[in-house]
Amino acid sequence: MTEFVSGRHFLQTPGPTNLPDRVMRAMDRNAINHRGPEFGVLGREVVAKLRWVFQTTATIGIFPASGTGAWEAALLNTLVPGDRILISRTGQFAHLWEQMALRLGLEVVPLETDWRRGADPLAIGAALAEDQEHRIKAVCVVHSETSTSCMTDVPAVRHAMARAKHPALLMVDAISSLGCADYRHDEWEVDVTVAGSQKGLMVPPGLGFTAISEKALAAARAGGSRRSYWDWAPLVTANKTGYFPYTPAINLLFGLNEAVAMMQEEGLPALFARHRRYAEATRLAARTWGLDLQCADPAACAPGVTAIRTPEGHSADRLRAVILERFNMSLGNGLGRIEDRVFRIGHMGDLGVLSLIGALAGVEMGLQAAGVPHHPGGAQAAMNFLAAPG
Ligand code: PLP
Repeated sequence: MTEFVSGRHFLQTPGPTNLPDRVMRAMDRNAINHRGPEFGVLGREVVAKLRWVFQTTATIGIFPASGTGAWEAALLNTLVPGDRILISRTGQFAHLWEQMALRLGLEVVPLETDWRRGADPLAIGAALAEDQEHRIKAVCVVHSETSTSCMTDVPAVRHAMARAKHPALLMVDAISSLGCADYRHDEWEVDVTVAGSQKGLMVPPGLGFTAISEKALAAARAGGSRRSYWDWAPLVTANKTGYFPYTPAINLLFGLNEAVAMMQEEGLPALFARHRRYAEATRLAARTWGLDLQCADPAACAPGVTAIRTPEGHSADRLRAVILERFNMSLGNGLGRIEDRVFRIGHMGDLGVLSLIGALAGVEMGLQAAGVPHHPGGAQAAMNFLAAPG
């Protein structure tokens, strides 16, 4: 028998995030006929709403999949084995995207980083300038590297590509930035943006999203790899009719429709400002504790997640285990080469000031309980900051 634990579990992972009651209620109903008239209305509505979130008029894909599926669709539709992609090794998710590309037979031109900053637009520009024969077909960057909590400046990457007069497609993973950070698919001239439901969009895991430029669609029409389920071709019609070429994840779409309605009620500027403020409060707490941020570039810190390093010789995984056991809170773990070196506080999606303060208080009590050297007062510093009107 599992032990009774009172109070609601604090889910402070950087995805999945907390589901708002409104989203849960919207999903808690019978399925509908996905070929019937009611579904067509829903399908068209969620496409329009996602366009609003991506700040685009582009073609939208909604796959019953996780973000990884949308990544795979992006590579398969536009590239053939032997094509080169340029990828900045900014963290574990860039690493996983690279590994997928290699498995699909693509060649990777990697740009190293120390996993403590975003992709370097100058390095990208220099690599493209060297590629006189235009063998690089796509530049892939992760907007918010969830493993390190570092952002990449996507417009700066696009400018670097333009300065190098390079025709490669720009592909951006916005999986943990969409709905937390300003993201402008059209204005930034991104060709393919990939996202997922379970982070800033406040929907359970299970939907992979993509926004696709005309240029990327044309590349897909002209070639790409063999694909079937992941093919983008039916999306153009599906966007118009609202119907999918297979059974869609109907109840998740009910949730998505409600979640984006909530985001629309808040408005994008307020939504982004709220996340920036939570991130700032979290960094203030970490600085007060005397702990280092994984993101070493203050201008690149992510609004939706903060990765914090434990002092040398102190296990971040043990700290998280103590926090889970004693205070019923889940935090994100360190991934890949920073496994056990960082813990990540997710502050994206549906949370208010008191939830964040509760999370930070839980971390501070955990630091004490686990014997991790720190200065007390981080949660108090965040309280002082958040007590002022936002
Ligand atoms: N890219 C980033 C930046 C992520 O944060 C994640 C998941 O955490 C992924 C890709 C993989 O997405 P999924 O787990 O939805 O397949």
